[in-house]
Amino acid sequence: MTHLGDLMPGAPKPGAPDIDEPAPGRRDALVIGAGLGGIAAALRLRALGYRVTILERCEQPGGRARAFTQDGFTFDCGPTVITAPYLFEELFGLFGERLDDHVELLPVHPWYRITFPDRRHFDYGGTGRSMEEEVEAFSPGDGAGYRRLARRARQLFEIGYERHGAAPFHRWQTMLRAFPAIIRLGGLRSLHALVRRHLKDPGLQRAFTLQTLLIGGHPYRTSAIYALIQHLEQRWGVWFVRGGTGAMVTALMALAARHGVAVRFGDTVSRIVVEHGTVRGVVLENGSMLAAGTIVANADAPYVHRQLLGRKPGLRRWRYSMGLYVLYFGTDRSWPATAHHTIILGDDYKTLLDEIFDGCPVLPQDPSLYLHRPGATDPSLAPPGCDGFYVLAPVPNLQSRIDWERVEPAFRERILAMLEARELPGLRRHIVTQRSVTPHDFARDYLSTHGAGFSVAPTLLQSAGFRFHNRVSGAEGLYLVGAGTHPGAGVPGVLSSAKVVQELLQASQTKSDPGRGKASSALNTLARHGRSFRLAGTLLHRVDLQDAATLYSFCRQVDDLADLAVDAETARIELLRLRAAIAVADPTHPQAAPLLDMAARRRVDLDPALALIDTMVLDLAPIAVEDEAALLRYAYGAAGTVGLMMYDLLGVRDPSGRSYAIDLGIAMQLTNIARDVIEDASRGRLYLPATWLPVHLRAESVALPEHAGPVFDAVCRLLALADRHYRNAESGMRYLPPRPRAAIRVAARLYEEIGRMIMNSGVGYLNQPRTRVSTGRRIWLLGATLCSTRAGGMAPGAMEPHAALHEVV
Ligand SMILES: Cc1cc2nc3c(=O)[nH]c(=O)nc-3n(C[C@H](O)[C@H](O)[C@H](O)COP(=O)(O)OP(=O)(O)OC[C@H]3O[C@@H](n4cnc5c(N)ncnc54)[C@H](O)[C@@H]3O)c2cc1C
Repeated sequence: MTHLGDLMPGAPKPGAPDIDEPAPGRRDALVIGAGLGGIAAALRLRALGYRVTILERCEQPGGRARAFTQDGFTFDCGPTVITAPYLFEELFGLFGERLDDHVELLPVHPWYRITFPDRRHFDYGGTGRSMEEEVEAFSPGDGAGYRRLARRARQLFEIGYERHGAAPFHRWQTMLRAFPAIIRLGGLRSLHALVRRHLKDPGLQRAFTLQTLLIGGHPYRTSAIYALIQHLEQRWGVWFVRGGTGAMVTALMALAARHGVAVRFGDTVSRIVVEHGTVRGVVLENGSMLAAGTIVANADAPYVHRQLLGRKPGLRRWRYSMGLYVLYFGTDRSWPATAHHTIILGDDYKTLLDEIFDGCPVLPQDPSLYLHRPGATDPSLAPPGCDGFYVLAPVPNLQSRIDWERVEPAFRERILAMLEARELPGLRRHIVTQRSVTPHDFARDYLSTHGAGFSVAPTLLQSAGFRFHNRVSGAEGLYLVGAGTHPGAGVPGVLSSAKVVQELLQASQTKSDPGRGKASSALNTLARHGRSFRLAGTLLHRVDLQDAATLYSFCRQVDDLADLAVDAETARIELLRLRAAIAVADPTHPQAAPLLDMAARRRVDLDPALALIDTMVLDLAPIAVEDEAALLRYAYGAAGTVGLMMYDLLGVRDPSGRSYAIDLGIAMQLTNIARDVIEDASRGRLYLPATWLPVHLRAESVALPEHAGPVFDAVCRLLALADRHYRNAESGMRYLPPRPRAAIRVAARLYEEIGRMIMNSGVGYLNQPRTRVSTGRRIWLLGATLCSTRAGGMAPGAMEPHAALHEVV
């Protein structure tokens, strides 16, 4: 698209001749796997402007969070305890939407009920009584200890979750910074050891440690850092999605579809192609290859390294989380007294856990169970008068070599008998439908290594920087999300891993600039996309340059929204959303936020930004410019608007100079049009006014040799018009303070030079690669312009100011 957002120095339009183009297809992203981590990553990448396709081997999305219906019952396969719902809200917020408009979250009472072999039970959270009262009632004297434990959990939450939960951990410096606090707060101890210090009652000790099982950790071996989960629950509560977690997956997929994320089901990636240390794409099981410059793998992290990248396991021995046996069943009656989440503990809990985590080859005789009864919160998931459940038993993963086909029937009976005895009397007579999964299903369906339920275990030496990194070294452009990577398993963990990847992608555009320290993302976008214009940018004051870069980055994103959308309608919707966000100053819109912040600080009027977007929306339809006035109107919308914003940004408040800023924007845009005539035509866009051409030309025929003469004549006319605007703009330079004046003048000269080169090349330029100004010439122009600026006079060829040419607009 010929759009110029480029009035500021260092800001050629996307695809300008001196662009250091990123690797081809860099903004084409593939996400391997539609688990919650993958879906969240796809949405975050989309919001960053990537063209995203999700490849999922199963026939439905959600991964472990998928759902199924059977005989009138709806079953969630996996996660049912929803904590930190703000992480879902954020995903909708990326696109200016609200979670509440699509999904209803229902509070759960109690959060969990823990039942003990001696028939006592403890209601953990969500009961209306404070947790301290609940603890004190269960075990007199433990209330004060609970208060201390809660304080420690909050401190660990602040370090482990707030400060580092969504922070990239691939650098050892990050680990070094985080470690002292973790050690000080007892992170080297196990969670059970921490809890035991504060609570005397063994039952309570179990109640306050078993949350680690939800992320695949042995409570006696998992680091005390994970006490943060207790605070996470306190902070945001425990929720259930009306319709089940599957309804959340459906809502997220609909959000993705609305915003142009493509999904392919039934496609298994068998290899990630890396060449010269950079990802190139993936090979599917059917042998076909898909190219992409950015790949986010939501597949199991160890599997990605070993199978998809073909890397040797090395010396490190990973410890895997336990396996899961899950039995889904529907009954023709209901058990209304049973809580939504019930944990049924067996007698020898510690031995059971040791056997499970040490890969005992025999299934437990006295298992501990988690029973899910969603009907307690949302009866719609089962037919009237019925109840749907799942019961989950932690079991050894496939490293134990248990022969599941042989032992499963007996194990199922053992579990049902235990449920009957402890929670659901008469159960077996009332089961009308059932289905079970074993670790083999996890290995087969999700390609989970050893059929582990939660990928690698969250031990201290497999957490944060010791876990699989979110950015894969030696494969630039490859990122990991999901349970096996930082921060870890569980819904909040995998959603946060997508945030980490978003941050890494943004940071990759903000790589350190050697000599000048770290630049902002916008500054890097600006620097990466224009070597010659960066020259001009260096003349600006650092703060001005930073904010000019923000403006440039915004213009580029407007272009990307228009150019990278799957179709014109999607582009239109995205542009209008952005427009609305600017109009109402909505700081949650990702592309609007930096612009709004900059505009507020620099008192930049944003009406021109709205006009710019309107022009881009019009530009989505086939373009035919009738006459010179229409051309100038377009050039004003596409670039004169940027001139106006730049004028405000530079702090010039004299209204008399504004028209010259518009003229410079128009001049640059006309140069762009001249340079890109053939390229634009190939996209169905023709900006040369019809009245300038001897015959009626359609965009498709512009490149035909027989039209070269008239097209070049029109281009010359265009450049002459540009020249008049450059001269006028030069007259307006006196409104600018000296430093910005020099920078803007250099930018203008560099752009003008493109026009000169086109004129010198003659008609032949139409068949040549894009016109570009050589490095030597750029430096020479910089010097020459600076000399004339220092001399205080006007650049050669400048005229006395006259009425702004754009006024025809
Ligand atoms: C029974 C159970 C109950 C749970 N309960 C809770 C809970 O209550 N609360 C909570 O917070 N967490 C819970 N969890 C944990 C949580 O569900 C998971 O940690 C989380 O959903 C995993 O998400 P993920 O992003 O890692 O992706 P996964 O769900 O693992 O999805 C990965 C996807 O990638 C696909 N894939 C893999 N390899 C390929 C390939 N080569 N090509 C294409 N596609 C591929 C898979 O098919 C899969 O769809 C539970 C887990 C289970 C199993």
